[in-house]
Amino acid sequence: MGAQLLGAHMPTSGGLGKAVRNSKEIGCAAVQVFTSSPQQWKAKVVTDEMVADLTKAREETGIDCLISHDSYLIHVSAVDDEHRAKSIAGLQGEIERCHRYGIPFVVSHMGGYKDQTVEEGLNRMVESTKHILAQMPPDVTLCMETTAGQGTALNSKFEELAFVLNACGNHPQLAVCLDTCHIFVAGYDIRTEETYTHTFSEFDRIIGIDKLKVIHCNDSKKGLGSKVDRHEHIGEGMIGPKAFELLVNDPRFERVPIILETPEAPEGHARNLAKLKSLIA
Ligand SMILES: [Zn+2]
Ligand SMILES: [Zn+2]
Repeated sequence: MGAQLLGAHMPTSGGLGKAVRNSKEIGCAAVQVFTSSPQQWKAKVVTDEMVADLTKAREETGIDCLISHDSYLIHVSAVDDEHRAKSIAGLQGEIERCHRYGIPFVVSHMGGYKDQTVEEGLNRMVESTKHILAQMPPDVTLCMETTAGQGTALNSKFEELAFVLNACGNHPQLAVCLDTCHIFVAGYDIRTEETYTHTFSEFDRIIGIDKLKVIHCNDSKKGLGSKVDRHEHIGEGMIGPKAFELLVNDPRFERVPIILETPEAPEGHARNLAKLKSLIA
């Protein structure tokens, strides 16, 4: 059958409804958006009109699989109390906007261990996440993204994600988003059938495949283990086409949203989506 929920991160100038309508035109079955500017603390206010427009667009297009990506400023593991408090409030605001819009998944990079040890950073992340989970609306799931491990970013290792999940009591509203470019530059090879199988069996052993709710589908400009996060068009980077062929034909991911974050959106997305579809057996 192959992957049923192929989609892309879409620009939102003109609103979320427009992003969904545009995504339909290029052949998406799932859409990721920013609900507010990812570079600003000041959040966009969601009006009833904005919610109604998105609901209408979903009905018109039949696209109901929506995901939001939080602000890049958010570091819930920050050592600085003020920065951490601001990050928690920022992520809670993102979750609240998703609740209003009816977006079930929020993807977050969560944070890093700047000016502290990895262990201290992870413990701060756990504390903040527990606080957020205790006040979560029941219809939103927080997905921690696998990172490239650039600088002091946490969650580039499956063990770190598993630590946070376990410390939060395997809360049903805490899950994982796997980014193919990020895991590759973090050192997890997926270029051949053998390495792909090994990496996903490691993911299953350490985290649990049932925790994987969103996949970001990107090739990489940089090499295995480089820890440098530069996305590339599907099949044209250092990962190459085989990994993506295995991914879109993997029966475990038939109902998991597979989202492109490749360059030159949205024109490039149309081409990359067609490429992914051509790889389905
Ligand atoms: Zn991301
Ligand atoms: Zn990503």
